Amino acid sequence: MSGPVGRFAPSPSGRLHLGNLACSLLAWLSAKSRGGRIILRIEDLDAARCPRVYADQLEEDLRWLGLFWDEGGSLGGPNGPYYQSECGEIYTESYKKLDDMQLVYPCFCSRAQLHAASAPHTADGNVVYPGTCRNLTPGEIAEKARQKAPAFRLKVPDERVSFADGCMGPYSENLLTDCGDFYLRRADGVFAYQLAVVVDDARMGVTEVVRGADLLSSTARQLYLYRLLGLPAPTFAHCPLLLAPDGRRLSKRDGDQSLENLREKYTAPEIVGKLAWLYGLQPEPAPRTPESLLPTFDWAKVPKKDICIPEGMF
Ligand code: GLU
Repeated sequence: MSGPVGRFAPSPSGRLHLGNLACSLLAWLSAKSRGGRIILRIEDLDAARCPRVYADQLEEDLRWLGLFWDEGGSLGGPNGPYYQSECGEIYTESYKKLDDMQLVYPCFCSRAQLHAASAPHTADGNVVYPGTCRNLTPGEIAEKARQKAPAFRLKVPDERVSFADGCMGPYSENLLTDCGDFYLRRADGVFAYQLAVVVDDARMGVTEVVRGADLLSSTARQLYLYRLLGLPAPTFAHCPLLLAPDGRRLSKRDGDQSLENLREKYTAPEIVGKLAWLYGLQPEPAPRTPESLLPTFDWAKVPKKDICIPEGMF
């Protein structure tokens, strides 16, 4: 029997940071420890923010660390395109299916309006959409469309979606009250992450999604899309996020924990070893190669809470 098909799905909007690397390491270990494969998909949906140089740099960084993939990115393969910026027609097809089901509607609300509304927030910090544009009449839509190009949202039912996360354990969310109707397409025509990721993981034959815990709450929405589109859903494992020593989330914008700086100070096995220790995969932060971690890899060892990098570790 062939093993799982995992993937790296980085957004090349900057240099990789330690948190991205940690997720890539776990995705690689999870698939490879069971004889699986890894696909690299470049999530450059927002092409203007994701110049190709970042994608190329990211490949070079992953290889430097010893995280080799089997298919995708500049390697190519049978399930391309592997760059989301080249997949517009593929997303349009799935989008049309949802539209034909009468589940898509135009939304004219601005970000500022949404944040001003005293609506509850989703677990990932967005506003649960209060449904403002859900029931506009054709006349109202035409009137509003004269002022502003709309974004498009998917109508969700009042229904709880539950799943067993491979790292975090059981998780469930009510689509309507915890997420709300969500974007499928932005006003400028760019397809939304939720749609693109589902369509791509399905068409690439991905069976196991490993990614950061900041996307745990997206999973209910994605499972709903898999169901609507009649696509087989993968399993999910969300890894705890790495926090800077002062407790803030790492971001591509602050360079401190970016590979650019780290590569000047440490060897690849030193970085991999420290990450493996932070994620409970070895008892001390000694240098390791990814391969050497394969025999003892076990999701049960990985903590479920965010991990704060000790001061002075990197
Ligand atoms: N492209 C996303 C990111 O870099 C990851 C999406 C996913 O793994 O589903 O955060």
